[in-house]
Amino acid sequence: MNIQTIGVIGAGTMGNGIAQACAVSGFDVVMVDIDLAAVQRGLASVSASLERLVKKDKLSAEAKDAALARIHASVDYAALKDAQLVIEAATEHEGLKRKILAQLDELLPAKTLVATNTSSISITKLAAATRRPDRFIGMHFFNPVPMMALVEIIRGLQTSDATHDAVHAMAVRLGKTPITVKNAPGFVVNRILIPMINEAFFVLAEGLATAEDIDAGMKLGCNQPIGPLALADMIGLDVCLAVMNVYVEAYADSKYRPCPLLKEMVAAGWLGRKSGRGVYRY
Ligand code: NAD
Repeated sequence: MNIQTIGVIGAGTMGNGIAQACAVSGFDVVMVDIDLAAVQRGLASVSASLERLVKKDKLSAEAKDAALARIHASVDYAALKDAQLVIEAATEHEGLKRKILAQLDELLPAKTLVATNTSSISITKLAAATRRPDRFIGMHFFNPVPMMALVEIIRGLQTSDATHDAVHAMAVRLGKTPITVKNAPGFVVNRILIPMINEAFFVLAEGLATAEDIDAGMKLGCNQPIGPLALADMIGLDVCLAVMNVYVEAYADSKYRPCPLLKEMVAAGWLGRKSGRGVYRY
């Protein structure tokens, strides 16, 4: 399938990042949100991000203008009908995503591929809620999308090889490095990352080392760009805890036991950067 027009649903953090990356790579983009103010903020965010790239000499002014011209933003779902691939990046809420997928089934031709950027909802379950389960797939981008090279391509049980191959090729054209993953809670990266962060909280709680030394150890000893505790503050301690609880529920395996210190800090409202205090103070 020749993919040239990409629909993006949601103009928030991820949606506008995906729209930008697609437009810079030469795709035509239709970005749709329910909220007009969100559409405008999304476009302003893309414009500011492209301008920063121009100032850093990473993009020409002409390429910036051309990319912006390739993005059509709207509050009308009908604008999506000519896309060959629609990537859903709306708020993380299963009921909402199901509603959006039902709307897309009504609107889009049967051959159109649909992807979701969900971080935590089962791709197999969402596929089963559509009329195109074999043409449905997960595309899990990382934030900030224009900078991060990885896309996890998640196959639901029903995803066809043709859908996988077309979306994989599209991600490569986007300049990303895709990895192919079977559907399971946390996919690959968060399945490994979040339990590692949880373990860092156990090490901290046991008083084995200070937070600074734990982070320095993982940065210098494992070549990680940021220590696990500083990263937890960026992700949000509440988000890390919620993800551990998903694994507890899914796998009923005690290795996913959330660290009591992590739970205690979340209960205190020490959620990380967003609340001004987490492991560190901001
Ligand atoms: P966000 O809150 O920044 O943006 C969500 C947008 O969806 C909002 O602009 C909202 O108005 C819009 N929206 C809500 N209902 C809609 C509807 N019915 N139709 C169209 N638009 C609608 O959220 P985000 O951080 O961009 O996350 C979006 C998705 O990406 C979620 O599924 C999330 O799990 C996933 N994700 C997020 C990150 C991250 O780091 N933020 C990383 C990977 C994946």
